[in-house]
Parts: sequence; C-alpha cells; structure tokens
Amino acid sequence: MSARDEDPAIAARRANWRNATKMVHAGRATSEWSGLVNPPIERGSTILHVATADLFSGRAGPTYGRSGHKAQRALESALAEIEGGAGTQVTSSGLSAVTLAILSVVEAGDDILVTDSVYGPTRRFCERFLPRLGVHARFYDPLIGAGIAAFFQPDTRLVVMESPGSLTFEMQDCPAIAAAARAHGAISLLDNTWSAGIYFRPFDHGIDLSVQAATKYQVGHADALMGAVISGSAVLDSRVKEAARLLGISVGPEDVYLCLRGLRTMGVRLKAHEAGARIVAEFLAGRPEVLRVLYPAWPGDPGHEIWKRDFTGATGLLGFEMELTPAPALDAFYRAMRLFGHGFSWGGYESLAIPADGEMARSCGSWRGMGPLVRLHVGLEDPDDLVADLEAAFTTRAAEVGGQGTGS
Ligand SMILES: *Cc1c(COP(=O)(O)O)cnc(C)c1O
Repeated sequence: MSARDEDPAIAARRANWRNATKMVHAGRATSEWSGLVNPPIERGSTILHVATADLFSGRAGPTYGRSGHKAQRALESALAEIEGGAGTQVTSSGLSAVTLAILSVVEAGDDILVTDSVYGPTRRFCERFLPRLGVHARFYDPLIGAGIAAFFQPDTRLVVMESPGSLTFEMQDCPAIAAAARAHGAISLLDNTWSAGIYFRPFDHGIDLSVQAATKYQVGHADALMGAVISGSAVLDSRVKEAARLLGISVGPEDVYLCLRGLRTMGVRLKAHEAGARIVAEFLAGRPEVLRVLYPAWPGDPGHEIWKRDFTGATGLLGFEMELTPAPALDAFYRAMRLFGHGFSWGGYESLAIPADGEMARSCGSWRGMGPLVRLHVGLEDPDDLVADLEAAFTTRAAEVGGQGTGS
C-alpha cells in the first residue's frame, strides 16, 4: 500500500467507489512497487530464506513461485474488489477457472445441474471428465428460473449458470436459481464473463461463486489468456485456493501483468463496446434477412426484461439469426467482411464474426434455431464502419443467393 492507500479516509471511501474508479485503483500497492504505478514483473520459482525453518513455518511469507508474486496478489485483490467478493484465485485460462471452481466443491457421488446454454468446453468437461470422478451432470433449460427447484435431488451439490448463455444469449433468472440452490443446501456458480464482472454483481444476488474468462475484456487485447474464480465468502475462497494448491495451478507473471494492465482501461473500453454493439444491433434489427437479434440490452431481445432488472450495462458480444442461406452464399457473406475477423474468443479491441451453430450442443432441446446463427464481437472500430462492413456482407450474400430471393 502507498501512503495514500493507507490513509484511513481513503479506506473508508473505497467501499463507495464506483466501478470506473475501482478498475483504476483496486489492488494497487505502489509503496511495495518502489513507487511505480504498476507492479513489477517478478520471475521466479525458488524463494531463498536465510533460516531454513522459515521454509516450513508458513509464517515467513511466500516460499515458492507457484503461488505467484506481487502482480498476481494485485490482480486477485482487484478482481475481488470489483465484483464484491471475498477473494480471487487466478488461473491460466477461463476454462481452467471454470473447472477449478467445479472441482473445488464436488465430491464423488455428487449430482450437479448445468445450464443447457453453457460454454461448450465447460459442457465437455462436465460430460467427459466429471463422470471419471463419480460426479454426474444434468443439464437444465436456461429459462427454467425458479422452476429449477423441482430438479434438486438430495445429492445435488452445485448449480452452474451462465447468463447470457454462450452463443444463444438466453438471460437466466440468476437470483431465483441461486435462491433455489441455497434453499436446497447446494452451491451456485455463475460464469459471469459476458458482464466482465462489472455489469452484474453476482454476490448481491445470492450467488456463491463467480468465474471470469479474463482472457476476454480484462486482458482486452487478445494477447494473453487468464481466468479467475471469485468467491462470495472467505470459506469458499479458501476451498478454491486449497484446490488450486493441490492441483498445482500457476500463472505466468507476464500474463498476470497484461491482465492487470488491461483491467485499468476496461471501463472506457466497455462503454465503447456497448455503444458500438447497440448501433450494430439496431442495424441488424432493420435488415430484412435478419430473423432475430440476440442482444439482451436491445429492447426486442426475449431476455431484455431480466437484463434491465439485474444488469447495469452491456458489453460487445451479440448474435443474430438470418434467413436460410445456401452454404456458398454464407461463405461469401463472411468473406465479404473486411473489418470483422473470423476466429474464436472475444473481448479484444477488434471485431469478430463467426458461425455459431457449429459449436452448439444441447441436451434438453432448449434452443430452436430459425436459421444460420452468427456471433459478433463488436470491437473498438467506428460503429459506422462496422455497419458498412456488414452491409457489404449482406449485399454479397444477396448477389450470391441471386434471383431466387433471400429465403431459399
Ligand atoms: C471464453 C470463455 C471461457 C473460456 O475462457 P478461455 O480463457 O478461452 O479458456 C469460459 N466461459 C465463457 C463464457 C467464455 O466466453
């Protein structure tokens, strides 16, 4: 902590800081950083101690590099402060944060409930890995809300939510689902990546564990991977940290540094992502080829009411469905784009567009597709240029579809 950070007046005010201020100041300890604005990048496995007893006492500070150094402490404390959690464990990717969070709380013989709209690799972990440990996952309709109470069994340990859902953007009634979990003595976990941990406060809504794929908006520049498990209570935080220690979870110092650096400018970036996404969503809603726009912040979205009730803002990831399009025309549609790149992940400064249906798997038929599903990440380009890029893609598509009209 710097002298300024230790000032009791500052400490009292911290609690009232708004998000933008937290993103700039949370986790800072400049006096430990030689007065530098940012933490040092410390590389190191071995940590030497003069007295050998200090290596084993647990009282002489860090004894090994696996648990990270100052920059990691800063990032973990910043992410906990921003979401209002008791503590954070960072991991090497968003997916490893999800798997760590699950492994921290399940035991052999447990049943877990997972939203059908969950991120694909999370689904695969639940389907292919958890059974080896004797943990059984059942998938539920993301729109189930309080109706989830009927699905609990005596052995149900955990409920996994993601809102909005990956690819299909269903808004879940997270407060109702978390309340049902608590009533049944189960733990609730939310993959809170879409909100960047800024626009939805999981612990205010009764959720126990929050996961961030910090690869997305916190890193923000598509140049590192990072994950975080944020716990709502100190008890859960120590369970997650113990599991991380036992599993050997460790993160490189440069990646930690990049994530913390990204976090400092995330506030202004998110505002620009949202402004652009709103313009793009409005444009899409006016296109004759577009059947459905999937962006909870847009008033026509089926989840808009829940978003309005629970969220304080939106980010730049959205989807849309278009009229049936023959494969060559769909290919031409994507190839005609010059600003939207085609690749996985999102949250960087650049715009992306990918076909989403190929990645989708469902267990309980909770999604009825109407036509090709496109996922867009609206980056920080001028939204008018992005709209022009999409307009050109629609024109190319129409030319390819040819005289048969757009409905073939
Ligand atoms: C990207 C993503 C992840 C995984 O993050 P990685 O850092 O790519 O492993 C997990 N959950 C959601 C919702 C994501 O979008």
